[in-house]
Amino acid sequence: MTWSFETREQNLKKLKTEDFDLAIIGGGITGAGVARDAASRGMKVALVEAKDFASGTSSRSSKLIHGGVRYLENLEFGLVFEALSERTLLFKLAPHLVHPLRFVIPIYKKSRVGYWKMLLGMWLYDLLALFRAPKMHESLGSKETCRRVASLNNDQLVGAMEYSDAYTDDDRLVIETLRDANRKSTVIANYTKVLSANYEQNKIHSVVVKDELTGEEFNLKASQFVSGVGPWTDMFGQKIAKQWKTKLRPTKGVHLVFSKKTIPIQKAIVMAVEKRIIFVIPRHEMVIVGTTDTDFKQDPIDVNTDKEDVQYLLEALNNYFPDLSIKKSDILSSYSGVRPLVNDGSDSEGKTSREHLTWSEGENLSFVAGGKYTTYRRISEQTVDFILKKMPKTLRQKFSDSQTKAPLNPKVDKKSYEQALKQIPVWEKEFVKDHFVVDYLAKRHGMEAPRVLSLVKKWSDQHSLQESMWMAEAEFAIENTMCLSLVDFYWRRSPLFLATENHGLEFLDGLLKVFTEKLGWSPEKQEQEKASVLAQIDKDLSWKK
Ligand code: FAD
Repeated sequence: MTWSFETREQNLKKLKTEDFDLAIIGGGITGAGVARDAASRGMKVALVEAKDFASGTSSRSSKLIHGGVRYLENLEFGLVFEALSERTLLFKLAPHLVHPLRFVIPIYKKSRVGYWKMLLGMWLYDLLALFRAPKMHESLGSKETCRRVASLNNDQLVGAMEYSDAYTDDDRLVIETLRDANRKSTVIANYTKVLSANYEQNKIHSVVVKDELTGEEFNLKASQFVSGVGPWTDMFGQKIAKQWKTKLRPTKGVHLVFSKKTIPIQKAIVMAVEKRIIFVIPRHEMVIVGTTDTDFKQDPIDVNTDKEDVQYLLEALNNYFPDLSIKKSDILSSYSGVRPLVNDGSDSEGKTSREHLTWSEGENLSFVAGGKYTTYRRISEQTVDFILKKMPKTLRQKFSDSQTKAPLNPKVDKKSYEQALKQIPVWEKEFVKDHFVVDYLAKRHGMEAPRVLSLVKKWSDQHSLQESMWMAEAEFAIENTMCLSLVDFYWRRSPLFLATENHGLEFLDGLLKVFTEKLGWSPEKQEQEKASVLAQIDKDLSWKK
């Protein structure tokens, strides 16, 4: 079942005319998870997203699927246990998006948490994972630590702990979750913003939705409504609920991105800075360093990286890797996001719990906020259970239990993924004789890779192989992920902005050609799109000036 720009047109018609069991507001990981869960139970579901899917916090995380070693210190054992169980499951649900990674925590003479306490924490972490981590933890002496992480500062180094967690492509995980919700008949549209609600006494009859691409407004009708608008929860709640009390304590987190040449490490490093930890995470194309954690009170749309954030992260990095002498000019790119933390009255940002909260405002309006990416499937399940209790018994009885433990994409389940890896030599003969391209696409798309590779072959008649690869990715994204603009593509369908030296601008004309062919862009629209890419780069990297 396709999920393209054409599907959006058809879906808008349905959103305007049909009645839904559940309407979800917000297309980050929370909204996407709730949609997939509700649809898996047989509900008739709609989802509207104000901008592009995952354009809020869900493309701006540390991109880790982890239990959170740090939360052990806050004694949040329940959260860690749940997150580690979900980690185990996610390896199966999305083998192309969730990858095991080893983490090293260096311990120095002056470290706040000493060797033995850390070792205890490691045992607890493996225990809470029911010893199902990809590999058990190891405790290392200082010599072995330096052998494993060659460039690490060894002054007063006592040793290190090494343990397993995982990294993901956060934006693509949202999109795969939504694609599966679409397969299960959810009606989904991006660039559709909920403005207000029409009430009949204490009950919402419909919400007013604005199509952000045409300006048209329409009513969306459903029995139940749920908000998954993340850090926008308080702003949105004031607009839609009859009475509102502030619920969140949003905090900002910044990441810097480097090339693997600048920071040549194979394992993630956990750096302790005052009471925080900062990760240095090597992943497919890049190394990301973050994050900060500071209160943020503005509209989340305005979040950006400041010079002070850059300074803070660079300082930590140079303390741990003094020989690398990392400079501001080594930074490829940066990104910042806002955590939708629920205000629990903690005295600091770092201590504020990462648990989620589900609650209702009025008869048929629910909210879900907070929580971690890692636990999104469980959060979604609990949220739909919560909503079900608000439905009349006659309606509730029609629905089955949640069925979200199956792989997100049948063409990239574990078996298909392994099959795709075996096909690499065959595809090299059939499509393009370039191991890097075929290997890269097989790992990104599993058994969907042949479609992308056939597009690479098509474009490579007139374009370089590298450009053809990104043009093929763009065509696939337009056809299968409701990708509507160059910014959607550069920021949330590919790593071009984040991980490449020139942010992929050398492919701009080729990519424009693909979008123009598929979406029929006028010359003016093409100019606007180019300008939007440049303006977004300018905004995200304004700290460089
Ligand atoms: P969002 O992704 O922000 O989605 C909300 C959506 O609602 C947005 O797309 C927005 O456009 C839309 N919206 C807003 N208003 C409207 C409206 N009126 N109508 C329609 N749509 C609307 N978790 C982990 O598990 N691992 C990590 O490594 C990790 N690292 C993190 C690092 C940082 C710096 C941050 C900030 C968070 C991190 N998290 C991590 C937490 C995780 O990223 C978030 O909990 C999660 O992404 C929140 O998703 P969400 O869908 O609730 O919010």
